[in-house]
Amino acid sequence: MCQFCHQHGDGKKWYLKAEHYSEELLDNLERRHYLQEFLQKYGQADGAKFEQNFQKALQGPAWLRQLIFRFQERRQRRDHFGQVVPLEDLEKVLGLARSIVRIPCICRKMNKGRTDAEYCFGLGLDAEKMLDFKDAFLETFRLGPDDAHFDRLSTAEALDLHRRFEKQGLIHTIWTFKTPFIGGLCNCDRADCLAMLSYRYNFHAFFRAEFVAEVNVDACTGCRECHAQCQFGAIGFSVMDRKTFIDPIRCYGCGICRSACEMDAIHLTPRSEHPLAHNLW
Ligand code: SF4
Ligand code: SF4
Repeated sequence: MCQFCHQHGDGKKWYLKAEHYSEELLDNLERRHYLQEFLQKYGQADGAKFEQNFQKALQGPAWLRQLIFRFQERRQRRDHFGQVVPLEDLEKVLGLARSIVRIPCICRKMNKGRTDAEYCFGLGLDAEKMLDFKDAFLETFRLGPDDAHFDRLSTAEALDLHRRFEKQGLIHTIWTFKTPFIGGLCNCDRADCLAMLSYRYNFHAFFRAEFVAEVNVDACTGCRECHAQCQFGAIGFSVMDRKTFIDPIRCYGCGICRSACEMDAIHLTPRSEHPLAHNLW
C-alpha cells in the first residue's frame, strides 16, 4: 500500500474511497481556487522550460538536487499528485466519480501546443458545479465560448475509451487537487506527459500502481509483441529461454503490456504481495 493508502485510505486503496470524489471536498474554496490557478498557470506555461529547469538542476551537486527534489515532491503530494491505475481499478474509479467530463490535455498543450488532444477527464468537475473551472479552461486553451469540449460521459462510455487508449499504449493515471480530492484522470505517454518527463529525472510526481506485472512463462511464446507497450523499460527478453520477463524493480504496474499479448501470458499481482516490489513506489 502506498503512502496515500495509509494516510487517506485506512490501509486500503485510497482511490477507492467514495469521499475522495465528493462534492463536499470540491466545495472547499481553497481547493477551487487552486484548481483555477493550476489551469491558468500550467495552461500558459512552456513545456520546454520545464525540461530546461530539470537540466539546470542536473548541473548542480547531486546532494543539493536530491534535497530540493524531495522537498518539492512533499509539496506536490499535498497539492497535486498522481498514481498509476490499471484498467480493472479504473472501472471502479469511474463508477465512484459523480461526473466524468472529457477535456483537452494540459501536458500536450504545453509540450506540443495541441489543444485538441482530449486524453484527460475531469472527475466531479461538471459544468454546473465548476463554472469557474470551465471558464479557466476555455481561456487557457483559447477554445472560445464553445463548451463542446466538456462532453459529459457515462461510466460505460469512459471505460470504452480507456480500453482504446490502453491498446494505444497510454498509461492511466489519477490526480489529486489538494489531496485527497481526486479530480483528474489522464492517459499518459512518455513523449508528452510532464509527469513522465519528471520521472526520467528521478523526480516523482506520481506513485506506481498497487500492482506489479508478471509473465506466465508457460504461456509466453516469446513473440515480443508486448515489448513496445512498456514505457518504463521494465520488459526484457531471455535469449536462452526465448521468453519475455518483467523486471519488478522497474515495473509501474500499469498493465498496458497485457493489451498486446494474445496469449494472455501477463497478469497483475498485488504489489503488497511481491517480495521485491512491495516497497517500491
Ligand atoms: S511491464 Fe509493468 S510498467 Fe511495463 S507495461 Fe507492463 S505493467 Fe506497465
Ligand atoms: S506478448 Fe505475450 S506471448 Fe508475446 S512475448 Fe509478450 S508475454 Fe510473451
